[in-house]
Amino acid sequence: LYLDIKAAYYGKENAPVIVGGRYGLSSKDVDPAQMIAIYENLNLDTPKNGFTVGIIDDVSFTSLPVGEKISLSDSDCIECLFYGLGADGTVGANKNSIKIIGDKTDLYAQAYFAYDSKKSGGYTRSHLRFGKKPIRSTYLVSNPHFIACSVAAYLDIYDVVDGLRDGGTFLLNSIWDAQKTVEKIPNRVKRILAQKNANFYILNATKLAYEIGLGNRTNTIMQSAFFKLSGIINYEEAQKYMKEYAYKTYHKKGDKIVEMNYKAIDEGASELVKIEIDPSWINLKDEIKEDKYKGSSFVENIVKPMNAARGDSLPVSAFVGYEDGSFESGTTEFEKRGVGVMVPKWIGENCIQCNQCAFVCPHAVIRPFLIDENEMSNAPQGVKDKAIDAKGKELAGLKYKIQVSPLDCTGCELCAHECPSKEKSLVMVPLNGEIEKGEQENADYLFKKVVYKDDLVNKQSVKGSGFAQPLFEFHGACPGCGETPYITLVTRLFGEQLMVANATGCSSIYGGSAPSSPYRKSNKTGNGVAWANSLFEDNAEFGMGMKIATATIRHRVENIMLNTKDKAPNAIAALYNDWLANKEDRLVTQSIRDTLVPLLEANQDIQGAKELLSLKQYIAKKSQWIIGGDGWAYDIGYGGLDHVLASGENVNVLVLDTEVYSNTGGQSSKSSRSGSVAQFSASGKSVQKKDLGQISMTYGNIFVAQINLNASQANVIKAITA
Ligand code: SF4
Ligand code: SF4
Ligand code: MG
Repeated sequence: LYLDIKAAYYGKENAPVIVGGRYGLSSKDVDPAQMIAIYENLNLDTPKNGFTVGIIDDVSFTSLPVGEKISLSDSDCIECLFYGLGADGTVGANKNSIKIIGDKTDLYAQAYFAYDSKKSGGYTRSHLRFGKKPIRSTYLVSNPHFIACSVAAYLDIYDVVDGLRDGGTFLLNSIWDAQKTVEKIPNRVKRILAQKNANFYILNATKLAYEIGLGNRTNTIMQSAFFKLSGIINYEEAQKYMKEYAYKTYHKKGDKIVEMNYKAIDEGASELVKIEIDPSWINLKDEIKEDKYKGSSFVENIVKPMNAARGDSLPVSAFVGYEDGSFESGTTEFEKRGVGVMVPKWIGENCIQCNQCAFVCPHAVIRPFLIDENEMSNAPQGVKDKAIDAKGKELAGLKYKIQVSPLDCTGCELCAHECPSKEKSLVMVPLNGEIEKGEQENADYLFKKVVYKDDLVNKQSVKGSGFAQPLFEFHGACPGCGETPYITLVTRLFGEQLMVANATGCSSIYGGSAPSSPYRKSNKTGNGVAWANSLFEDNAEFGMGMKIATATIRHRVENIMLNTKDKAPNAIAALYNDWLANKEDRLVTQSIRDTLVPLLEANQDIQGAKELLSLKQYIAKKSQWIIGGDGWAYDIGYGGLDHVLASGENVNVLVLDTEVYSNTGGQSSKSSRSGSVAQFSASGKSVQKKDLGQISMTYGNIFVAQINLNASQANVIKAITA
């Protein structure tokens, strides 16, 4: 593109020097309309110098005006767009469709897949093109003939049908019948379908996948419907090919999985229902929907548009005030993705109040609450009806309820499996039923308005830790993730005093991918976890740097107190003395801070008060954690980790050891066991697993524990709080 600009410049007599533009998008996203805008700029008598395109720069006004979107495809080229749910198999099925068309027909094919950064349950788009001539187009499809959407809720969030061509086809996976689907989908969508004279089909792939045993993997069903509707190849032949490719994809997983996919291919298309488009939909006005989850201006103006895949259209002015790149924490609270098809329902009379469900939930979605009389009187009726008396004399007079936040649940079933009560207290039921019964309102009230009473039962127990507010919630890890319950527990135990250096890997992706931040502030104090991600190769050093920086600043706090305590008023001097005697005690320093800060604010004129206030977040002792996977700890970051461990610094290291590189596709690491088959050790790993624990123990001053919450939950807590 840059060369093209130069050529245009050299071709023009007496043209001013064009230094070149900053092109706002990478080549995969090149929009022909934007390229035209660049040439039109060059054609002006006084072209804009140092321009931007594809970015609405309403601050320094460098953007070029861009015209209507145009398609560069040949007229006989079929363009398709598929919206899928991360890990539902849509992308895999589309890869197979493109291979079928490429291999079995004389059509040319092109495919491009776009994902968000959720490990699972995110949002995927597959851009597919087929044509008789070689395809020389951009990758993104913006004007499709065919659109398929695997999640009905996307119609409320994303601009799914906007680009559909006149007379195009829209296929929706809908859990409702035709009449209910029409009632449920937004007016905006109906209006566009009418404007475009669309062919509108629905299919209950969710129900069918469940019946067949495929869980949430609706992919082959939707694929079968695509071949039926698109008519690109004869449907009977397509079925044969789909099975051939399903075999290739799934045969390693066993005959049962292959058979289920065959069934999905056979039955998928037969369930299609055509919905007649009512021409009067063209006049429908948008409904006014109340947004129950309003956030700060950062959430409303940056996070929500980004989550709705409209981040590209944010003007530069939206970021004024955030120029340093910092993001607000706790933004996952506003996602309410509703990706769990089945969610747990609590049966209070069977519950033994052990809080184990909350302990194992990877997403901090199910929580026990202790509710006092006043909180009870303001609670929604659903809470009043279902809460039971809390067991134990220390909880006398309080009500107890296990609360699920259905729209944040991934439906992993871990809680229901874990529940030890004789009669089941947790059963999996359809998400929609729970929403209709008001469980989300109950969750919104309890999660936000009820005080987390974490000081009544010993916090260093499964039951006690469950009552603490988790400061890590609703992240994009896979359903049933085996890593995240440990992190949730660490946040419950160390709360706002937690500082985390996080190595790149799964834990950094679900830990913070713009605009999602699952680490949050505590309801009680308004302070939260400090979290930052560093590279694979230097995370341990990064964490040690945090630790040393904190220690240095706390040393300043100490000096101010030592130098000024003799002149300070008695109440303040007493607190200084108390702090100096206990400065390494987390709980004591936190409680001193809570009393001291208001006193200093009221006495800002005393010597050192202002400086101390500027350092107030360091008055309480921090708990420094260094977190990462085995790819970091055993392999790439090992040298640094060894250095930090040998240094004797008081830091906590949590290695989430999955014995492969989980984030990048399961490559063998030095933690993989001998004989294990992984990428790069296809015939079994030849050397044994490195023993990081043993190596660390040789230093003599390191407490080493190998923990697993399936083995002993009590030991996990003991080790983490040691
Ligand atoms: Fe948590 Fe999974 Fe239970 Fe949902 S089903 S509440 S995500 S453990
Ligand atoms: Fe109740 Fe079961 Fe949760 Fe224990 S695990 S608190 S018995 S619902
Ligand atoms: Mg790993």
